[in-house]
Amino acid sequence: MSNSFYQFQVIVVGGGHAGTEAALASARAGARTLLLTHNVETVGAMSCNPAIGGIGKGHLVKEIDAMGGIMGRAADAAGIQWRRLNASKGPAVRATRCQADRNLYRRFVRMAVENQPNLTVFQAACDDIVFENGRAAGVVTNTGLRFNAPAVVLTAGTFLAGKVHIGQTTYTAGRAGDPASIALAEKLRDGPFVIDRLKTGTPPRIDGRTLNYALMEEQRGDDPRPVMSFMGSTADHPQQVSCWITATTERTHEIIRNALDRSPLYTGQIEGIGPRYCPSIEDKVVRFAEKASHQIFVEPEGLDVNEIYPNGISTSLPFDVQLDLVRSIIGFENAHITRAGYAIEYDFFDPRGLQPTLETKGIQGLYFAGQINGTTGYEEAAAQGLLAGVNAARAVQDLPGWTPRRDEAYIGVLVDDLITHGTNEPYRMFTSRAEYRLQLREDNADLRLTPTGRELGLVDDARWSAFSAKRELVETEAARLQGLWAGPRNTLGKALTEHAGLTLTRENSAADLLKRPEMDYATLMTVPGFGPALTDPAAAEQVEIGIKYSGYLDRQAESIEKQKRNESRSIPAAFDYRAVTGLSAELLQKLESVRPASIGQAQRIPGMTPAGISLLLVHLARQA
Ligand code: FAD
Repeated sequence: MSNSFYQFQVIVVGGGHAGTEAALASARAGARTLLLTHNVETVGAMSCNPAIGGIGKGHLVKEIDAMGGIMGRAADAAGIQWRRLNASKGPAVRATRCQADRNLYRRFVRMAVENQPNLTVFQAACDDIVFENGRAAGVVTNTGLRFNAPAVVLTAGTFLAGKVHIGQTTYTAGRAGDPASIALAEKLRDGPFVIDRLKTGTPPRIDGRTLNYALMEEQRGDDPRPVMSFMGSTADHPQQVSCWITATTERTHEIIRNALDRSPLYTGQIEGIGPRYCPSIEDKVVRFAEKASHQIFVEPEGLDVNEIYPNGISTSLPFDVQLDLVRSIIGFENAHITRAGYAIEYDFFDPRGLQPTLETKGIQGLYFAGQINGTTGYEEAAAQGLLAGVNAARAVQDLPGWTPRRDEAYIGVLVDDLITHGTNEPYRMFTSRAEYRLQLREDNADLRLTPTGRELGLVDDARWSAFSAKRELVETEAARLQGLWAGPRNTLGKALTEHAGLTLTRENSAADLLKRPEMDYATLMTVPGFGPALTDPAAAEQVEIGIKYSGYLDRQAESIEKQKRNESRSIPAAFDYRAVTGLSAELLQKLESVRPASIGQAQRIPGMTPAGISLLLVHLARQA
């Protein structure tokens, strides 16, 4: 076997959501890339609920997609029930979500990985990461093979020293059915990283044929059906099915309360902190003791399987309790459990040990992405994977990294939150985490990011030409509406009165009319003389939002400009904070632990004061 078999520019460890996006991005960005993963069959596997998107998460998927990532197209190929959440609310918080067929999703991701030029897949466990002279040099597998590369992206998910809990039973695993990464976890504990434990959980799965759907509320997908990818269409979607809604009963809660002395969460057996926004059913029953019932979404796992995912009853209670509590749920009286619910504890790294490129501060050339950085969720993992993958590929080609600002992308918000604040519970994305959310909408993710993706080599010709055509359509239409004038006495004004009941007292452009709360693009286009309307609904929505919210967007742009100046004031990595006279011991300690890359990041450190920032600025100016 030739030596080139073992030589790569970037090695990605782990074929989950972070790993596949990292490997694809790295290969597309021009680096010869190896994806090393435990099992080729589980590439793209969803450990928990097979659903993609949702509020905040859908925003991330659209951004990954706009940057040429795979998640959005995989969701379109696998989505069996689609919804647009917050459809009646403002554009900043509208979000796309689909229930996916687990197997279709996995197959799509695996095919994308297998067909990506520049990318090689190898099945083995990575037991060691080789550090030479303080930098990453390669990896060693459980079978003793050594692969070399100047950059390694680690995306081991919940696998590092993973420990499963079902009642008092515990065993090591990466997730149910997969081995934990024990040797690698031990090796990393010797490295220059701050390591702690987190926990997450999953519900028991049920044979859908044993449920009584007549007692549940049907939840059909939306019509018209949204799509996830900017390149997607509903024609990509497989057969559509319904989800169902049911609820726990007083009896369910009683069963849980009576079993708390056998719950690993309450006996102290589980030490890691779980996701606050996705609590276990035992946690909900204890914390919200006054609630008589909790909603459960009954979601199919796929088109050709019978299993369903009961969303809302994640648990690590003993199996006998799980069976009783499941059968106390409305419509679940005869339910057959196919897989037990469980909790898993795993090692994660304090993300404050990372640079904005997701390269570790301690080891040059080593990048961390996904759940190991303290996040939860496929989307959060995939977003980090894409960023780490492209940055690893660029670093080995001596190119500068891609570090989106908070006003450019939720990916920027995610990474900045993690590296500045760290986390002591699984971090998930919400729109409320973004201060510039009117700017960071799902609908304009392509306008915000596809040109950058193209520059970085991530966006192929087909996407680029579709994007360019849409951008031109939007710009031309916006200009047309700005130049179309209706007045009290002209034909357009009269048509408005006749067809839309609107009487003008002065001249208004069509764009001005669109800014009125009672007017929308579709209605305006039905008035003779104002059309023809754009036929592409995505482009039409873009025009409408751009015009309607232009005042707010302009104000936000001003504040972004101000903040940008601070973001561009970078702080050298080796900056000596002790040399800054006047800094309090508390601020000094915070700055030394975060080591912010810019004044902007320093400002966001909790407890940072304007006076502290002034001292930093003065010192930086003296050094310049
Ligand atoms: P993973 O998807 O876990 O992928 C890790 C990959 O790395 C796997 O392919 C694995 O085989 C591979 N790997 C690991 N170690 C090695 C090694 N040494 N050598 C080679 N390959 C290796 N998310 C939510 O949003 N909500 C939830 O409620 C939720 N519940 C969850 C419950 C459970 C039980 C689990 C396991 C996960 C849950 N998740 C939940 C989290 C979601 O699954 C993860 O956030 C997401 O999968 C993380 O993606 P990742 O790529 O970081 O890791």
